Amino acid sequence: MSERAAPFFCPYCGDEDLRPNEQGHGAWECAACSRAFQLKFLGLLAPATSGNTTGREDI
Ligand SMILES: [Zn+2]
Repeated sequence: MSERAAPFFCPYCGDEDLRPNEQGHGAWECAACSRAFQLKFLGLLAPATSGNTTGREDI
Protein backbone atom coordinates (compact mmCIF):
# COMPACT_ATOMS: atom_id res chain seq x y z
CA MET A 1 0.00 0.00 0.00
CA SER A 2 1.36 3.38 -0.90
CA GLU A 3 1.86 5.85 1.91
CA ARG A 4 1.79 8.77 -0.45
CA ALA A 5 -1.29 10.68 -1.30
CA ALA A 6 -0.75 13.55 -3.64
CA PRO A 7 -3.44 16.19 -3.84
CA PHE A 8 -4.18 17.59 -7.26
CA PHE A 9 -5.65 20.86 -6.11
CA CYS A 10 -5.16 23.12 -3.13
CA PRO A 11 -8.18 22.61 -0.84
CA TYR A 12 -8.15 26.32 0.00
CA CYS A 13 -7.69 28.15 -3.27
CA GLY A 14 -7.98 25.37 -5.81
CA ASP A 15 -4.63 26.02 -7.42
CA GLU A 16 -2.57 23.19 -8.84
CA ASP A 17 0.84 24.54 -7.86
CA LEU A 18 1.44 22.21 -4.94
CA ARG A 19 4.75 21.01 -3.63
CA PRO A 20 5.82 18.78 -0.73
CA ASN A 21 6.33 20.56 2.57
CA GLU A 22 9.27 19.99 4.88
CA GLN A 23 6.92 18.94 7.66
CA GLY A 24 7.01 15.49 6.14
CA HIS A 25 4.30 12.87 5.90
CA GLY A 26 1.52 14.09 3.69
CA ALA A 27 2.46 17.73 4.14
CA TRP A 28 2.03 20.00 1.16
CA GLU A 29 2.24 23.65 0.51
CA CYS A 30 0.48 25.75 -2.05
CA ALA A 31 2.58 28.25 -3.95
CA ALA A 32 -0.47 30.23 -4.95
CA CYS A 33 -1.89 31.03 -1.51
CA SER A 34 1.14 30.12 0.65
CA ARG A 35 -0.89 27.77 2.79
CA ALA A 36 0.57 24.56 4.16
CA PHE A 37 -1.66 21.64 4.91
CA GLN A 38 -1.42 17.98 5.68
CA LEU A 39 -3.24 15.00 4.33
CA LYS A 40 -4.12 12.32 6.80
CA PHE A 41 -5.56 8.93 6.19
CA LEU A 42 -8.39 8.45 8.63
CA GLY A 43 -9.33 4.90 7.80
CA LEU A 44 -11.68 3.02 5.60
CA LEU A 45 -15.32 3.87 5.55
CA ALA A 46 -17.53 1.33 7.17
CA PRO A 47 -20.19 -0.26 5.01
CA ALA A 48 -23.47 1.56 5.10
CA THR A 49 -25.44 0.47 8.10
CA SER A 50 -28.57 1.64 9.76
CA GLY A 51 -28.28 4.24 12.46
CA ASN A 52 -25.65 6.33 10.75
CA THR A 53 -27.72 8.13 8.16
CA THR A 54 -28.89 11.54 9.17
CA GLY A 55 -30.06 12.45 5.72
CA ARG A 56 -28.72 15.95 5.96
CA GLU A 57 -25.50 17.76 5.33
CA ASP A 58 -23.98 20.68 7.14
CA ILE A 59 -24.03 23.71 4.92
ZN1 LIG B 1 -3.76 27.41 -2.33
